Amino acid sequence: MTNAAKQFIAPLSAAALSGEKVYDDLFSLTDEAEMGHIELSRAADLVVVAPATADLLARIAQGLASDLASTLLLATDKKTLVAPAMNVRMWAHAATQRNIATLRADGVLFCGPDEGEMACGEYGQGRMAEPLAIVAAIEAALAGSTLLDLPKPFGKIAREEPSGPLSGKHVVVTAGPTHEPIDPVRYIGNRSSGLQGYAIAQAARDAGARVTLVSGPVSISAPGGIEIVNVGTAEEMLGAVMKALPADIFIAAAAVADWRVDRAGANKIKKSAQGPPVLNLVENPDILATVSRGKDNRPRLVVGFAAETEKLSENARKKLLSKGCDLIVANSVAQGSKTFGGVNNSVQIVTRDRFETWPELSKRDVARRLIEQLAVMLGNHI
Ligand code: C5P
Repeated sequence: MTNAAKQFIAPLSAAALSGEKVYDDLFSLTDEAEMGHIELSRAADLVVVAPATADLLARIAQGLASDLASTLLLATDKKTLVAPAMNVRMWAHAATQRNIATLRADGVLFCGPDEGEMACGEYGQGRMAEPLAIVAAIEAALAGSTLLDLPKPFGKIAREEPSGPLSGKHVVVTAGPTHEPIDPVRYIGNRSSGLQGYAIAQAARDAGARVTLVSGPVSISAPGGIEIVNVGTAEEMLGAVMKALPADIFIAAAAVADWRVDRAGANKIKKSAQGPPVLNLVENPDILATVSRGKDNRPRLVVGFAAETEKLSENARKKLLSKGCDLIVANSVAQGSKTFGGVNNSVQIVTRDRFETWPELSKRDVARRLIEQLAVMLGNHI
């Protein structure tokens, strides 16, 4: 912990919550026999700085070793991952941007910052990435990825009047898993984090669109400037999407449960001598197909995802035709792929007349590229 960190959280709280010893004093470490600061900096597989302030980023960029944290960062032979957090103007300042360019050139990995409301009431880039996104970035870094969420050179200083290729358009996005109740305390769910859908909603907002994000239960926080409708089940998600129409573009990024329990217990199902309960499953409505086949309110572009474990492109093309949509983003969720909960995604794009394989990109970059393509396709439609 730096001295600044200790102004916010007492070392005792950090130690109690983590169950770990807190190191904060360079000189007591240098003196004592238990663990020297050089050893401490190398015992880890990865060094993570979260939150990384403008001050600490400046000190790492300069190679200063003025306290224990900066000394460890200088002495380590491991990769460093930083999750910057600061006021939008501090982030946009030329000095900070210069330091970031230096750090990137030195191989420091970045996660975030996000754009949104600041603690000080301003709006813009500088919010620390969500903890779940940082965990995903750590996993990706340990797996050898060097393609983490790189920061945009400059954040928006203030909320501007929407402009951009999708201004005046309405985009509806579904994201996250659905939870299908078994009884009041149990449900059927899946491992979707919602990161890709949320990134798409943000990219559409950045392109100037009015965005409605219909979200299943996730643990990431809502981006600013977007209307969020929180739902639990597939049926609720369908209802919210139909209510949100008409739209110019519908993007179904949610991992909707295929089945639900036909009659969820009103009370918690008890263990009994008769053995485990038999759950009768019924099919959920297909939101993507319903919107795609809609007569009156069909958005001009309907986009689906195909998370496949095998025969990716073949299954994606079949899905495009069977669901009647205009574009499918296909990704592999085979064992070993890091799609679920990961920050990166390797996708293929399938339309009626096109097939593209994109390189591994951060989910944020996949979202930006997808939105760019959709804006072009929408333009061609008119
Ligand atoms: O059929 P499958 O689940 O593989 O299709 C995936 C695509 O369909 C995703 O875009 C997903 O959001 C959408 N979907 C849906 N409603 C369902 C099942 C899938 O909108 N009930």
